[in-house]
Amino acid sequence: MKIAFIGLGIMGKPMAMNLLKAGHALRVFDRNTAVLEEMAAAGATVCASSAETAEGVDVVMTMLPNSPHVKSVMLENDKLAEKMPKDAVFIDCSSINPDASREIAAKLAEYGIEMLDAPVSGGQPKAVDGTLAFMVGGKKEVFDKYADVLKAMGSSVVYCGNIGAGNVTKLCNQIVVAVNIAAVSEALMLGKKAGVDPELIYQAIRGGLAGSTVMDAKAPMIMDRNFKPGFRIDLHIKDLNNVMDAAKTCDSPIPLTNQVFEMMKILHADGCGADDHSAIAKVYEKMANTEITRG
Ligand code: NAD
Repeated sequence: MKIAFIGLGIMGKPMAMNLLKAGHALRVFDRNTAVLEEMAAAGATVCASSAETAEGVDVVMTMLPNSPHVKSVMLENDKLAEKMPKDAVFIDCSSINPDASREIAAKLAEYGIEMLDAPVSGGQPKAVDGTLAFMVGGKKEVFDKYADVLKAMGSSVVYCGNIGAGNVTKLCNQIVVAVNIAAVSEALMLGKKAGVDPELIYQAIRGGLAGSTVMDAKAPMIMDRNFKPGFRIDLHIKDLNNVMDAAKTCDSPIPLTNQVFEMMKILHADGCGADDHSAIAKVYEKMANTEITRG
C-alpha cells in the first residue's frame, strides 16, 4: 500500500521503518527535519509538509504526541484531511484523548473519510522489533481491511470497539504501567533499606506472580541508574491527564492512579519531565534519601 506517515519520533521512526521492510511505499514528514534524511536513505519519499504526504495514498498514519498535534495536522493548520484521496483511511497511532478521536472521526466523516484510533503499547524496543501491541477502535469492517498494515508493526492487533475504544484501552494500559512502576520502585526500596540486594529481589520474584513485563523492562533501568527515555514522564503525565478526564466523565474511581500522577508531577517540577517513566523511582529515592542501587 501507499502510506503517508507523520510523526517520526522515538516510536514513529521504527514503526515507519517496519512498514518499509514489509514492502509498503511511504511518504513521510516530521517537523524535526533531522530524522528525514535517515528515512530517505531507507527508501521513504520525504515530503516538505504534512499536507504533501497525502498525495495518492491509501492510508494516512500519524504517531504524534497528543490530541492538539493530531487535530493540527489533520484539520487545523496542515488540513491534511482536505488533501486525502476520498477512499483513503486515517489511522491514528498516537495516544490521545478518546473524546478527541471521536471528534476528529466526526469531522473526517464530513469528507467521507473513515478513521481508526490505533494506539500502541510496548515502547521503543517493541517498535523496533515490530512486536507492538495495537488496541484499535473504529468500524469493524474498516479494521478488518487494514489490520494487516498494523501487523507489519505489531505482534498483537486487537479490535476493541467503536471509534475511541482504542484510546480508552490505551488509558487502561497506562494506569497499569504507571501503578506497576511505582509498586516495583516501592518494593525495591524496601528491600534496599532492609538490607537485601535489589537485584537478588528482582531475580527471585520475576518468575513468580509479582513478575511482569513492566518489572522486566524497568527494574534493570532503575538499578542501572539509566533514565534515558523510552517513554518520557511528560508523555505519561499527558496520558494520566486523559485518564483523569475519562474517569470524571464516566465516574470511575482512580485512587492509585491519582497517587502516581502526583509523583509524576513532582518529577516534572524537579526538571525530570524528559526522563523515562522508570524515574518514578527517584521520588522514592528522595523520600528515603537512598538510591535503589545493586548490592
Ligand atoms: P516523540 O516526541 O519522540 O515523537 C513525536 C514526533 O512528532 C516528533 O518527532 C515531533 O517532531 C513530531 N511532531 C510533533 N508535532 C508535529 C507536527 N505538527 N507535524 C509534524 N511532526 C510533528 O514521541 P513518541 O515517544 O514517539 O510518542 C508518540 C506517541 O506514541 C505519543 O502519543 C505517546 O504517548 C505514544 N507512545 C509512546 C511510547 C514510548 O515508549 N515512547 C509507547 C507507546 C505509545
